[in-house]
Amino acid sequence: MKRFLLTGIFAVATMLPLLTQCAQQRMQRQALESQTVVLDIGHYYAPERGGQGARTPDATQGGMLEECEFWYRYAGEVKKVVEAAGYRCVVCNRGEMPTDPKLAKAAREIGVVHVKTPIPTAVYRSRHHPQRMAVGILSADYALDRRPGAVVFLHLNSDSDTWRVSNKGAFYCNKCGVKLATAMAQVMSRRIFDHGMPNHGVPCGVVVRTDGRRGGGDWLNTCNESYVPAVITEVAFVSNPEHARFLNRPADARRFARAIGEGIVAYMRRR
Ligand SMILES: [Zn+2]
Repeated sequence: MKRFLLTGIFAVATMLPLLTQCAQQRMQRQALESQTVVLDIGHYYAPERGGQGARTPDATQGGMLEECEFWYRYAGEVKKVVEAAGYRCVVCNRGEMPTDPKLAKAAREIGVVHVKTPIPTAVYRSRHHPQRMAVGILSADYALDRRPGAVVFLHLNSDSDTWRVSNKGAFYCNKCGVKLATAMAQVMSRRIFDHGMPNHGVPCGVVVRTDGRRGGGDWLNTCNESYVPAVITEVAFVSNPEHARFLNRPADARRFARAIGEGIVAYMRRR
């Protein structure tokens, strides 16, 4: 009996790593073969206060600009490019439907799925990888539920409360998102940086984030543990007057959004 028990324990101990390996390979294959792209509109819309992302210091560069509201207006452009290339595209946001009628109309047209995080400023634990905790992680969970091939968190960058020309915009990505971020950066440098949006000759960067909870990177790491490439778009600064002027012109804003879509498509085609 004792020998039987020991043999049993030995069998389980040798099988476990194999099973884990199988599960990993299945997840890797699933991500590589997936035809779905998830876009997450960053931050959330609060009634009375508006979008809760970064804002321009003032309205002197063509109007006030706030990242969450910006993406309610333009995520549809990214989606159109991805869908035109034959992929499925789902757009989500961690909060609720905006109360602003124009943004609500845009959200309905895009078909934004609101994850309705009970307290959008609170830290939540991922259902997929419970060791991962972050503000906004419920939309990363929603994205992983869709079994995506790529997840893109739509943001704009800011590094100052006053106007400041900064040109170090980058796509921040998880470890398995380097190819996705690189493809997106190539399109951004070729089509937008110094092609309408001044960037003083600095190309678009790619930054791998492995800094976990403290740096907010747990959304990226929870995707990484499902082998799903994930990218945060931090390429244009709302605190840079030259970038703000560009993004405040609707035709240029659409061009910027489409360049993000084209980068995603370039990756999906050549992965
Ligand atoms: Zn942001």
